[in-house]
Amino acid sequence: MKAIASTTITYPIVETFHSIQGEGSWTGVSAFFIRLAGCDVHCPWCDQKESWTIKPYPQQSVEELATLAKQANPAIVVITGGEPLMYDLDPLTKQLRGLGLQLHLETSGTHQFSGHFDWVTFSPKPFKLPHDSIYPQVNELKVVIASQLDLQWAQQQGTKVPLGTIKYLQPEWHTPDSQQLIYDFVLQYPDWRISLQMHKFLGVR
Ligand code: SF4
Repeated sequence: MKAIASTTITYPIVETFHSIQGEGSWTGVSAFFIRLAGCDVHCPWCDQKESWTIKPYPQQSVEELATLAKQANPAIVVITGGEPLMYDLDPLTKQLRGLGLQLHLETSGTHQFSGHFDWVTFSPKPFKLPHDSIYPQVNELKVVIASQLDLQWAQQQGTKVPLGTIKYLQPEWHTPDSQQLIYDFVLQYPDWRISLQMHKFLGVR
């Protein structure tokens, strides 16, 4: 049987766009986003609920996505979702890397890890437990905080990531009380930092 060329492999894509990275260590950096469709975590406060299903979205080929990313000329390419690890990311990352692009992943880590990245942002959610394969890959841990219970979840996940991982707490955008919670927490636990969603303050995507 004839093998399928990896460049013709497709993924369901909610959107691609060029903006700035608004969160974490790379905040403010020019970034091209590839948002894959599909997520089975279903966080109640998710701001990307339209990305949970796969059906309405077009399939785009690895080659097409890599061309768009290269044309944008960003500092980094961010593969996000939805939950991108629902798919084998090896073909996509191979093509993007072949064009000399720097690749970042944003994931809740709930599926087997795949792909080759320069930076992995792990944002675990208590609504679906992470897969063990994510932990050795993590460069940055980013936990969204909506309540006191989420702080316990953050601490528990913080013990599982590699030494040297940068650890962020991010206030849930629609829960103003979370800002005070994380402020107090970071003063008490100096190995944690605060991440704010700069793109929302700027009113951009
Ligand atoms: S993991 Fe991300 S995309 Fe999925 S429901 Fe939670 S916040 Fe939304």
